[in-house]
Amino acid sequence: MKNLVVAIDGPAGAGKSTVAQLAAKKLGCTYIDTGAMYRAVAWKALQQGQPVTDELIVEIARDIQVVLRYIDGKTTVAVDGVDVTGEIRTPEVTAIVSQVAALGPVRTKMVDLQRQMAESGSVLMDGRDIATSVLPDANVKIFLTASIEERARRRYREMQAKGYAVELEELQADIAARDKADSERKISPLVQAPDAELLDTSCMSIDEAVQAVIDRCNSEKRR
Ligand code: C5P
Repeated sequence: MKNLVVAIDGPAGAGKSTVAQLAAKKLGCTYIDTGAMYRAVAWKALQQGQPVTDELIVEIARDIQVVLRYIDGKTTVAVDGVDVTGEIRTPEVTAIVSQVAALGPVRTKMVDLQRQMAESGSVLMDGRDIATSVLPDANVKIFLTASIEERARRRYREMQAKGYAVELEELQADIAARDKADSERKISPLVQAPDAELLDTSCMSIDEAVQAVIDRCNSEKRR
C-alpha cells in the first residue's frame, strides 16, 4: 500500500489525541489533530476582547493562519506565527470551541486545510467528522469512545495535572454539553461512520488502545 490514511473520530475526552499521537508515531504517520485547528480559531476570537459572536468568529477565520507541526511525536500549533500549543487547551477556549466549529465558513476553511495536509503522505487524523466528511476514503476508520463517566475522570486528572481547580461533576456536564452540540449541529455532526470500527476504551489502558489501533492498521496493510 502506498500511503496509509487513518481516520479516528469520537466524542470529547475519549483519549483520541493521546492514543492517536502515540499510534501515529509507531506507524510512521503524520498526526493531524483537527480539534486543535478549531481551538486555534476560538483562541484568536477570545484575544479580540469583544463579545464572541458568530460574525466575529467568521471574520477571524477568514484571515487566520493556522499551522500544525508534528515533530518527534509531538504536535505544536501556531496562529499567525505565534505558538499557542498550550493556550488552546484552556477552559475558556474549550467553552466556546463548539460554537466556532458549528459555523459553515469556519469548517470549509479548516476542512480544505486538513485535506491539503493529508496529501503529504501517510497520515493519522483525528476529529469528529474525519471518516464521514474530511477523508471518506480513509483506509482505516475508527470511532474511539468511552463511557461519559470515564471520559470525565480522564479529563479531570488531565486538568488537575495542569493545575486547574475543577469539579468532576462540572467537567462531566461540560463534556455532555459539548457532545450534544457536536452531535446535533447541522454541518458534519459527530456520528460514527457506518464503515468505522467501534473502539470502546472505557476499560483499556492507553497502551492497549494504541495497540488496538496499530493492529487494525497492520491488518489493513496486509490486505
Ligand atoms: O478534539 P477536541 O476536543 O480538541 O476538539 C475541540 C472541538 O472542536 C470539538 O468539541 C468540536 O466542536 C470541534 N471539532 C470539530 N470537528 C473536528 C474536530 C473538532 O467540530 N474534526
